[in-house]
Amino acid sequence: MNNIFDTHAHYADHAFDEDREMLLSELPEKGVSYVMLASSSVEDTAENSALAERYDYIYAASGVHPESVDTTPADYLDIVTDTVKSNPKVRAIGEIGLDYHYEGYDRDKQIVLFEEQIVLAKKLGLPIIVHSRDAAEDTLELLKKHRPAGVVHCFSYSAEIAKEIVKLGMYVGFTGVLTFKNAKKPCKALAEVPLDRLLLETDCPYMAPEPFRGRRCDSSLIAYTAQAAAAIKGLEVQELLDITCENAIRFYSI
Ligand SMILES: [Zn+2]
Repeated sequence: MNNIFDTHAHYADHAFDEDREMLLSELPEKGVSYVMLASSSVEDTAENSALAERYDYIYAASGVHPESVDTTPADYLDIVTDTVKSNPKVRAIGEIGLDYHYEGYDRDKQIVLFEEQIVLAKKLGLPIIVHSRDAAEDTLELLKKHRPAGVVHCFSYSAEIAKEIVKLGMYVGFTGVLTFKNAKKPCKALAEVPLDRLLLETDCPYMAPEPFRGRRCDSSLIAYTAQAAAAIKGLEVQELLDITCENAIRFYSI
C-alpha cells in the first residue's frame, strides 16, 4: 500500500519520545507519503513546526486546542501568526474547536478561542482543523456564521451532522474508530460523506485501529482504517487511499 496521507497526527507527543526519530524516518518505507501534525498548544505548535522543517513529508498546523483554554498566553494569536509566516510548511490552523465532554474547561472561553482562530485562519487564507466533542450545536453555529475552509476531524457525530458539514463545503476526517466493533455511528456518517470530501487520519498516538486498539498508534496503521472505509464505500483499499490522499493534497494546498 502507498499514498497514505495521515491528515492528523501528534508526533510531538511524549508517547514518541523514545523512538521518534527512528519511527519518523521509517514511515515513508511503510507507504506513508504525507503527515499533517495537529497542534494543541503554543508549545506544541513550535515543536510541530520544527518537525515539519526536518522531514520532507511532514507538514504542520498551528493552533490551540479547547483543552488549552487555561494555559494559553494572551498573545497566542501573534505566536500562531508568526509560526505560519516563518514556516511555509505550516498549512492549517488547528486543532481548534469545542470540547464539552469534560467539565472544567470554561465553555465561554472555548468559544472565544475557537472564534478568534477561525477569524485568523480566514485572514491568513488557511483551512482549519476542527476538534468537536459533545458540542455539535455550538460548533455548527460558529461554522455557519464564519464559513471557513476546514475539516471536522475524528468525526464522532451523526450522519445528519456529517451532511451539514459537507453542505458547508467542509471535509470530514475519520480515525481508526471506524474499525471498532461498536462504531456504527461513524460508519453511518462516513457512508454519507462524498468521496471528494473524505480524509483519513490517525490522531496518533491515540485511536489505534483494530487489531491494535488500545496500543500506541502511528500513521502506517491507517491501512486498517482505510480497509474499513473502503468496505463502506465499495472500493479497493488502494483506491480509497489514492482518493483521500488527493483530497488532502488539495485541502492543505500541498
Ligand atoms: Zn488531535
